[in-house]
Amino acid sequence: MPRTYHLWTIGCQMNAADTRGLAAHLEALDLTPTGCAAEADVLVMNTCVIRQQAEDKILRVLDNWRAFKQQRPELIVAVMGCLVGRQADPSLRAQWPFVDVFLPPSDPTALLELLRHRDLDRAARDALRRAEPDADVAPALPPSAQGRTVTAQVPAVLGCSHACTFCVIPYRRGPERSRPRQNILDEIRRLADQGVREVTLLGQIVDRYGLDLGGGADLAGLLEDAAQVAGIWRLRFLTSHPAWMTDRLLDAVARSEKVQPYLEIPVQSGNDDVLAAMHRGYTVRQFRELVGRIRQRLPDAGINSDVIVGFPGETEAQFMDTHRLLEELRLDFLHIASYSPRPETFAARRLPDDVPDDEKERRRRLLEDQHRRILTEKHQAYVGRTVRVLVEGRDDKRARWWGRTPQYKLVYFPATDDRLGQLTDVVIEWAGPFTLVGVAGRKQDVRFAM
Ligand code: SF4
Repeated sequence: MPRTYHLWTIGCQMNAADTRGLAAHLEALDLTPTGCAAEADVLVMNTCVIRQQAEDKILRVLDNWRAFKQQRPELIVAVMGCLVGRQADPSLRAQWPFVDVFLPPSDPTALLELLRHRDLDRAARDALRRAEPDADVAPALPPSAQGRTVTAQVPAVLGCSHACTFCVIPYRRGPERSRPRQNILDEIRRLADQGVREVTLLGQIVDRYGLDLGGGADLAGLLEDAAQVAGIWRLRFLTSHPAWMTDRLLDAVARSEKVQPYLEIPVQSGNDDVLAAMHRGYTVRQFRELVGRIRQRLPDAGINSDVIVGFPGETEAQFMDTHRLLEELRLDFLHIASYSPRPETFAARRLPDDVPDDEKERRRRLLEDQHRRILTEKHQAYVGRTVRVLVEGRDDKRARWWGRTPQYKLVYFPATDDRLGQLTDVVIEWAGPFTLVGVAGRKQDVRFAM
């Protein structure tokens, strides 16, 4: 019987949440985690195909695992997530015959069956599948993570039906579907009981939560319910879509003491023709107005965004529209990606990838430099200010703790006592583009309850 497992995860927060749920299932089967892949009895890779770089990394790790399997045929190897998609393509099995089981995103059922019923043949396992508990009611945290995990992500909306022309996610994670409200709230309650203090609700377009459930369910209502869970101090949600963020949602954030003033809204481009070619569903003017509405209701909000440079056909003038928009909006954090064609997508099939790689890199660097400068300037306003930080971990090398402000700014501060899971006021003394450093002031007298 396998005794240890090793998980390797790459990609978005949804993958991190799926990995956390899988770990909880594996530990419920009495497996224990190991950081050493070469020694594990079960290896699971949770994959991402949103960029070619991620795929390249996956292939390198899988090559190592192939060697492990040759040395130890009893080793169980599973591959999960967006590389697999909703149904494993037979070509995957042909390419990696040493992989025992392929798992769709967010659904570890096939691996759990394999582990529970290793002695049964496939037909018997299929028969048992119907009697297995629903993977959606996973224990919240694996025991190995309890007592040291302060924040957790909880999927609220699975899949996406928007079909932006560059994006492979709808093909791999399937159409949009909201999880039942009760399952989400139960999971948050279990997380709170296990010591988690901050929960981030996830969805590819999280603002669309509940539209497929009917009965008036929406994200604002879900956040209000989640805010009632005792032990949860902070709530966040991501990723938003500019066309779906409502004033009702913004008002719910503004009203709530628990929902943090932090929004992730990808703009992707500052040019209307590029946005139309991406099939994003909004214009630059609408995005600008949205940022205005957010800043009116939540003056102190942290607004993060994503940008793609070098989308097919993007001219220098169109790129400079993006540069100008970002200069104007001075957002709080940007994920800047160079376009890479993803199989199956409309852009990969129909639009020539005609911006050369070195030009994409030049544009990416220009935005990175701009972003770094804007953040360096913006963050000077924090120096001398006191911010409240939820402490998530310790940097042992430099004997300091780290945590996040309500706006998701990363803050370091030295302290010799145990601060994990505590709300601590920090007076900021130094501010760089990506971190703030300060000294601990008053801490809230609520202990991390584990
Ligand atoms: S909204 Fe667009 S970019 Fe986001 S997951 Fe859906 S298709 Fe992909």
